[in-house]
Amino acid sequence: MTMYNAPVEDMMFLFENLKDNKNYNEIEKFKEINSDLVKDILDQAAKINQEIVHPLAKIGDENPCVYENGIVRSPPGYKEAYTRFINDGWTSLSCDPKYGGQGMPKTVSTFFEEMLSSASLSFKLYSELSIGAYNCILHHADQKIKDIFLPKIVEGKWSGTMCLTESQCGTDLGLIKTKAVKQNDGSYAVTGQKIFITSGDHDLTENIIHLVLAKIPGGPTGTKGISLFLVPKFNVNENGSIGTRNGVNTLSIESKMGIKGSPTCVLNFDNAKGFLIGQENKGLSSMFTMMNLERIIVGIQGLGIAETAYQNSLSYAQERKQGKSNNNKDNKTDEIIKHADIRRSLLNMKSIIQGQRSLAFWLSQQIDVSLNHTNEKIRKNAEDLVSLMTPVVKSFFTDMGTEITNEAIQVFGGYGYTKDQGIEQLYRDNRITPIYEGTNSVQAIDLVFRKVLNNKILLNFISIVKEEIKINQETSELKEFSKILSNNLRLLEDFSTLLEKMNKTNKDDVSAACNDFLKVLGYISLAFSWFKISKISFKKINDNKSFYEEKINTAKYFYDKILPRAEMHYNSAKSGSNIIMNAKFN
Ligand SMILES: Cc1cc2nc3c(=O)[nH]c(=O)nc-3n(C[C@H](O)[C@H](O)[C@H](O)COP(=O)(O)OP(=O)(O)OC[C@H]3O[C@@H](n4cnc5c(N)ncnc54)[C@H](O)[C@@H]3O)c2cc1C
Repeated sequence: MTMYNAPVEDMMFLFENLKDNKNYNEIEKFKEINSDLVKDILDQAAKINQEIVHPLAKIGDENPCVYENGIVRSPPGYKEAYTRFINDGWTSLSCDPKYGGQGMPKTVSTFFEEMLSSASLSFKLYSELSIGAYNCILHHADQKIKDIFLPKIVEGKWSGTMCLTESQCGTDLGLIKTKAVKQNDGSYAVTGQKIFITSGDHDLTENIIHLVLAKIPGGPTGTKGISLFLVPKFNVNENGSIGTRNGVNTLSIESKMGIKGSPTCVLNFDNAKGFLIGQENKGLSSMFTMMNLERIIVGIQGLGIAETAYQNSLSYAQERKQGKSNNNKDNKTDEIIKHADIRRSLLNMKSIIQGQRSLAFWLSQQIDVSLNHTNEKIRKNAEDLVSLMTPVVKSFFTDMGTEITNEAIQVFGGYGYTKDQGIEQLYRDNRITPIYEGTNSVQAIDLVFRKVLNNKILLNFISIVKEEIKINQETSELKEFSKILSNNLRLLEDFSTLLEKMNKTNKDDVSAACNDFLKVLGYISLAFSWFKISKISFKKINDNKSFYEEKINTAKYFYDKILPRAEMHYNSAKSGSNIIMNAKFN
């Protein structure tokens, strides 16, 4: 079994030193969220994740969910752990106190999301979609629905799902066939079949609240005719108590490569009673409230699993003895951590993970500003940056999760491939993250076509990074970092100019370049994070020499060994799409 120790020290380093967004610091209600409070929350979070949740990862993998006689049963121990989880209030962490939440900012709840992903992604998924459903209902439902459903979801007694996918429609939601017919009492009768629904059915909560995309007959075709409905597993009485069973049934659950402790369900809706959320035919934009925040959380899943892979690889490399390193003096066998190639692997993992955690912290501040600042222009500006970074965090973090869990298997050698150590499970569990919530390729297309071409958001991001370089230009220790980061910003500008040109001549050239562009923006965003970490580390080096020296060394590693990948991606994109589109597959 793997081990996991929550990286509370690194999280507190970020909270205490990089809460540097002026607009975030102006938000009145977060001013009392001080370091002592956050440290206390993170210590408690570490305890439940290490002691209660982490052991469930292996249990869920070896005893997957079971579907029997129309009922879905979670793996052994999940129910007891979930009860403890909700009794301790973890589902309510970032929710509005008006509905029973604790009102914590994303700067805090994102750390919790990471820990939970590291501990057990399968267990996490039972509550994760509930928070997505909470956000969607909070922003789009009428008050009556909010009053009935939100307190129970916040408390964790009812869970949520997101029902988009059908057998003929995954990426292309315009193909949805599920229909919703208006009834005399104002509700809708929802009929159709949804597949691949995470936590679509299980035995952990009293009720399950499905958010379902469906079409109202006679509406516009394609994505313009999609509406959003709330469909409970059990109908809910006026006083909020559980009523009769609604027309939603589970037909089967999937047998999968990973996240075996999480039920992935085929759901049949047969004239199920549903309530419209938001306006008719505007369902997709309401669902996007759920999906956009969810996409960032999926990115955090990749980061969390990578952290567990790194910690176990490091510990194994410190103990496993094989061969002799070049500087071996005593002729005894060395621990593999002495070999340059293993050290390179560990530094790849560490520099990417810690850079990502810092970028996620920066993004969390932007999300908090976009949701809470009193000034509309500032809110909009932050919202734009969140929108730019959402596909990057979703795709780049999960792709790196695949790279890092793969590299962890390699560090363990044969013991990584066999099941005992639990390392191959990390790879399998992570492998869904580049696929669900919109595949990574489709995220890259969204980034380039909707957020970069003919758009100023990227320029806004670039100017933030340039400003950071400028205000530190007198700091001699940062000179080399500044030079390399500035060169990479030029590369990013050149790449976006190239995309604009390609877009005028051959759109396939742009499509073929989207993945490369997303990677370039990902690597440069991490370089921006490491720049800021280094700035603090040089300043504070005498406070804790080993901690800050290690940060600076890892930053140098990232700049020397990882960041050059950005140029490689740019060069690959330059050659366009002819060879791709003219290839013959026969
Ligand atoms: C374990 C699991 C849990 C899931 N949970 C949920 C859930 O809770 N709710 C839910 O609604 N769905 C869920 N899904 C479904 C998931 O979101 C879809 O599988 C995903 O969106 C991809 O859709 P698809 O499988 O139909 O693939 P397709 O859309 O058929 O895509 C196949 C390939 O084609 C590529 N592709 C598609 N369109 C384009 C394009 N325009 N340009 C370029 N490339 C393209 C894709 O990137 C992909 O590589 C889950 C799936 C799994 C496996």
